Amino acid sequence: MNSMGPCALYVSACGTIEHADAAAPALLGMDAKALLGQLVLNRVDGPSRERLRELWLPGEDPAQEAPPSWRHDLTVLRADGSRVPTCATAHRSADGEPGYLVLELTPLVRRALRDDVQAPESLHDALTGLPNRRGAREVIDAALAIGSRNGQTLSVACIDIDNFRSVNEGYGHDVAESVLRSIGARLSALAHGYCRVCRTAGDEFLVVRRGADSAEDMRGFVPQLISRLQEPLEIDGQTLIVTASIGIATHACRGVDFDALMQRASHAMSRAKRLGRNTWYFAPVDVAPSLQQQAIKTRLHRAIEHNRLTLHYQPIVDLESGSLRSLEALMRWNDEQLGQVSPAVFIPVAEESGLMAALGAWALREACGQAARWQRELDLGCPIAVNISAVQLQRGELEQDVLRALDLHGLRPGMLELEVTESALIHDGAHLADMSRRLQALGIGVAIDDFGTGYSNLLYLKHFHPSKIKIDRSFVHDLANDREDRAIVRAVIDMAHAIGAAVVAEGVETTEVRDALRQLGCDEAQGYLFARPAAADQVGDWLRLNSGQRYPARVA
Ligand code: C2E
Ligand code: MG
Ligand code: MG
Repeated sequence: MNSMGPCALYVSACGTIEHADAAAPALLGMDAKALLGQLVLNRVDGPSRERLRELWLPGEDPAQEAPPSWRHDLTVLRADGSRVPTCATAHRSADGEPGYLVLELTPLVRRALRDDVQAPESLHDALTGLPNRRGAREVIDAALAIGSRNGQTLSVACIDIDNFRSVNEGYGHDVAESVLRSIGARLSALAHGYCRVCRTAGDEFLVVRRGADSAEDMRGFVPQLISRLQEPLEIDGQTLIVTASIGIATHACRGVDFDALMQRASHAMSRAKRLGRNTWYFAPVDVAPSLQQQAIKTRLHRAIEHNRLTLHYQPIVDLESGSLRSLEALMRWNDEQLGQVSPAVFIPVAEESGLMAALGAWALREACGQAARWQRELDLGCPIAVNISAVQLQRGELEQDVLRALDLHGLRPGMLELEVTESALIHDGAHLADMSRRLQALGIGVAIDDFGTGYSNLLYLKHFHPSKIKIDRSFVHDLANDREDRAIVRAVIDMAHAIGAAVVAEGVETTEVRDALRQLGCDEAQGYLFARPAAADQVGDWLRLNSGQRYPARVA
């Protein structure tokens, strides 16, 4: 076929073949008349279709996105279903209507022989019809190529069905296959704009999004995915509910490749699993490529060894009286080379590299020591709150660490509070509820942190019986203007009070928000309006100055 003459297809702006060179009918295995009027996308195989859509979207203004000319491999579908790999050169016609494309196809004979042996259809998953892992590589490579030219970002969501093995074992292979097909269909139905769905392994799907701010698109999209996926499935007269854990990685299209993105998305997915499943986790954007992550890991090791981490403290105040209710301990790391690294960045690294248990135990000891000193020197009468990571909860040594830290500094259990995020709680709920009860029986407070960002239900909360619920700052910062946020916060306050828990609003930055919270009956608040987190010395000065005044250190 290599010896055939020029073989170009002339494609209209709406994607139909309007004219073809003499050699084209032979290449496509159909007669010239039948060829005209066909959609060009129907004459190439799935991955090539994907690539063609990437490079040139029929019906869209080509000046917006597609490059003026390009060269790529495309596999042509002949009328008899056989495939011919080609190298395609495309350029927009200078004199035709906008979007008019001239597609010159040169068959690749050697490639054809090799691909025949290697079954080219293995780019697609037979069960769902979606691109498989090899197909996903094509989809992502093509998206990166386009996105690099346009300065766009690409987000990859790695979706893993929770406990899929139990579906397989409990309902059998056929039902499990139907479940996978339905999930593929649900994901595809939700995809809009530039959004591609692939099935990359048994119970693993990918959603790929490209755009100016694909991470922001994903933030809106992922909660929809989670809730759509967990809707009941009717299969063979049986009703099944499956949930999924989703990890999302985003990167500028320039400077990243398929493997790096997949690795980050898959790490993020594992983290979503560890956070209790049926939830999602965004790989931190700053920690991007593995080199930087590696640097953080190595330096964090050293920082822990050399005691270079510190705790800062931020007051939590009573909304009515303004008096101090507790102090939250927040980890700080100022590295000589990396500068100030946010705990939102280094805590996930510590969790992934096995450093979190030691780090968490250190924070407990350090905070208890500080509370004991303030109690002795300044008569501090309110507890110190310490954040607890999901990893500490799962290791089963938390109770021991807590009791040891109290004992070491002779601190009363009533002077300590633990903050556990909502998503960390969902994992192994019964066990955690027992532990929380034992700790609370000793007088240790247990607060649910970042409430509203995870997926706990009311019944679950009732079992857990927290002493405090901290409403995530995303619901708080616009409270004065946003009616929906107000309705949510009101509902959380009512629910928390119904189960006997106090409510703290996080991230209070303005007097308007403080007043709105007071009106809604919120008990306590934390935020820059009252005080920023500060080093122990500064907080000590502040406690000394404010003792007996607006923020008296002593609270009944
Ligand atoms: P968190 O526990 O929800 O802590 C509150 C975060 O909100 C802190 O960020 C605090 O500095 C910030 N914040 C307080 N008031 C305001 C405000 O008015 N506006 C805004 N925009 N932010 C405010 P930080 O210190 O960067 O900590 C981030 C997260 O890292 C914490 O969220 C917590 O989940 C985690 N973290 C910090 N220290 C520890 C620790 O010792 N152990 C564990 N496991 N996690 C920690
Ligand atoms: Mg906290
Ligand atoms: Mg919080």
